[in-house]
Parts: sequence; structure tokens; C-alpha cells
Amino acid sequence: MISVEEAEKIILQQCKDFGTEIISFDNCLGRVLAEDIFADRDLPAFNRVTMDGIAVNYEAFENGIRSFKIKAIQSAGEQPIDINSDDECIEIMTGAALPQTVDAIVPYENIEIKDKIATIKTGIISTKQYIHHKGKDKKQNEVLVEANQFITPAIISIAATVGKTSLLVKKNPTIIIISTGDELIEMDKMPTAFQIRRSNNYTLRAALKQYAIDADMFHLPDESIIIEKELQQCIDKYDVVILSGGVSMGKFDFVPSALEKLNVRKLFHKVQQRPGKPFWFGAHAKGALVFAFPGNPVSTFMCFYRYFLLWLKTSWQIKTNKSYAILNEDFVFKPSLQYLLQIKLQTSEKGELLATPVEGNGSGDFVNLLQADAFMELPSERTGFKKGETFPIFVFKQML
Ligand code: AMP
Ligand code: MG
Repeated sequence: MISVEEAEKIILQQCKDFGTEIISFDNCLGRVLAEDIFADRDLPAFNRVTMDGIAVNYEAFENGIRSFKIKAIQSAGEQPIDINSDDECIEIMTGAALPQTVDAIVPYENIEIKDKIATIKTGIISTKQYIHHKGKDKKQNEVLVEANQFITPAIISIAATVGKTSLLVKKNPTIIIISTGDELIEMDKMPTAFQIRRSNNYTLRAALKQYAIDADMFHLPDESIIIEKELQQCIDKYDVVILSGGVSMGKFDFVPSALEKLNVRKLFHKVQQRPGKPFWFGAHAKGALVFAFPGNPVSTFMCFYRYFLLWLKTSWQIKTNKSYAILNEDFVFKPSLQYLLQIKLQTSEKGELLATPVEGNGSGDFVNLLQADAFMELPSERTGFKKGETFPIFVFKQML
């Protein structure tokens, strides 16, 4: 049995580059950007008016002029219209390009307009007010978005602004999720008194969907010959095989022996952790990686978020910062295993991230996952954990 740290290290040694592809801008949300996005021109591209009102020459105001003849109305997108004398102004709208002969905007709120004369009612205006200057945010050819990050709505807006109709993104690994177990039936069937509907495979498929990956699914009975035959095909066809179930000590847990028969090199079996102790991990010489998670739903769930996602993000070269929270209650865990405690997160008035244990009834109690936001990793060499101590967390609930 190896430690959690060793398991993580071994998994990270198997990170891979799956290459890149160009996809339409419309389909890129949630994918991983593989190119820098540059400013195609200055941002803003011109001196941009930021309030609806009038544009005046500040010097005229300083010299005591308060009433201005409205020479023209200029909307956003129009060619700038210059004034010919200091007692003129342009009625101008937000988003319009500032004419060269004016240098201050006085918003409608501070003027009165009568018979095409605008009178300033406020005593103070400042030069350059309500103008967003050309190139103030970024200069042409500067990097706006760096590669190796998830494409978010904010990045979509940048891509749209610079006219990137397609984007270079990281290719996703091809993944098959395999459930195992004779007791598991399809969700649209009625279970007998001792059967259950399979759910882990749907959990994993949904979790991958949140990372813009469409995984295939397959189910295997607890029969070694069928397991070997079908697994062979999956190993040949997919970059990653994720299994749930069949890796423990049971009479019908045929997965580890089948994988070894198929020349999937075992990199570890069993990790000093709870849940998920029987986790099996291996690699085939042809490239396929096999994450074989224990079937208990909380174990599968934890292993996916604790290990698989770390592997995936590191393969995509996404920087991952470890997150931490403060334990909000004393907690005791006696076995010499690293405990991944289910926790509810909340922020204190001081801005601290507090973790309240919501333990549940073990690794079969997946209903309890609804109460939790994350796992907190408590070191195996200790048994008592005090309120106020800080430990790493693995967040799985997306805060929308
Ligand atoms: P195993 O790891 O195969 O011994 O399974 C451990 C427990 O997890 C058993 O109670 C299984 O019925 C349950 N289990 C295994 N796979 C799934 C699945 N895909 N969906 C729901 N429960 C499962
Ligand atoms: Mg089983």
C-alpha cells in the first residue's frame, strides 16, 4: 500500500500532451486555450466617450463660458465632428469617438438644454473627464489572454473583441467510463429487491462534461472472460479507461487480474486513504492509462476529484494551486489512513474559509455528498484534528 503523496506523484508522472485542435469560437466555452490571444488594435481603439452628454473644450469652461451652442449630435460609431469655436459643443453619446477639438464630457445630469443651447449647471468639471483614452487598457499586439487556461465567458468576450472566429484549444483525451458489477442495472429498469441502478458512470460522465469532455460509457458483468475481452478493446481504442468497481478483495473483483493479463502495467494498487483504499492505477505500453476506482460511490467520486482531475489539468498544463480551509470543529479519525473528510464550506466575517465536517455514513452514502462542497485531506499520521487548523481541500461543488 502506498501513501496518498506517492500515488499522486506516480499519477502525475503519467501526464500527457494530447495535442491541439482548432475549433469554432462558438464551441470553445470550457475548453483549454492553447494559444495566446493578442490585441489586434489598441484597447480602446479610440478615445471613447463614457457618458451621454456634451463634449466641450475644457479651456472654454476655465475661461468662464457656461453656455454652448450645440453644433451637432454625434452617436457611437460615427465619424467625430469637430467644433469651430470655443462656445460650441457636440451633443455626444457613450461609446462615441471623441473629436480632436474637445477634451471634456459634461453628462446630461449636469446640463440644461434649451433652444439648442446647452448650459452647464455644475461649478466644477475637470479636463479629460469621462474619456476612456485610446490604448489605456492594452496596446496593439499585447497579450490579452495567456494560453493554458479554461475558456471562460470573460475570455469569450476578448476573443469576440479581437475577431477570433476560431481558437486553438487543447485536444481532450478520449475517455471511456466502465461500470462493473452484476448487481447493477440500467437506470430505466426496475431493480429486484437486491439489485441497484448503476450511477457512478453517470456521475463521472457528468463531472467530465463540466470539463467539456464527452466520455463514452460501458458496463461489464463480473465475469473474468468477458472483462478481459472487452477491456482489451477499450485499451486499444481510448486514451483513458476509468473503471469503477471490481478492484477490491471480493471473490468477483476480477479487474486487477484482467488488467495485468492484458499487459496493463500496474503502477499501484491500494492507497493509504479512506475512502478509496483499493484504487488501482496502471499504464499500457501502447499509451492507454487505466484509473480503476473502487465502486463505492463516494470512493469513485473522491478518486475522480482528488486524482483524476489533477492528472487531467496537469496534462493540459493548467496551473493548479492547492486550496486550503480552516477546520471549524474538532475532529477525530483513528485509522492510520489519510482521511478525505466531506466538508461544507463557508466564509467567516473575517474572510476565512471555514470547513465544517459533514461526514455521512461511509463510502456507500452518496446522498451525503449533496451536503458537502469539498473533501478535506487529513494527514494519516495523526488522529486528532483541532478546530482552527488548516488543511488542503479538494472542492467539487461548482459555485454558480
Ligand atoms: P465493488 O468495488 O465492485 O466491490 O463495489 C462496491 C460497492 O459499490 C457495491 O455496493 C456496489 O454495488 C457499488 N457500486 C459499484 N459500482 C457502482 C455503480 N456504477 N453505481 C452505483 N454503485 C456501484
Ligand atoms: Mg463489484
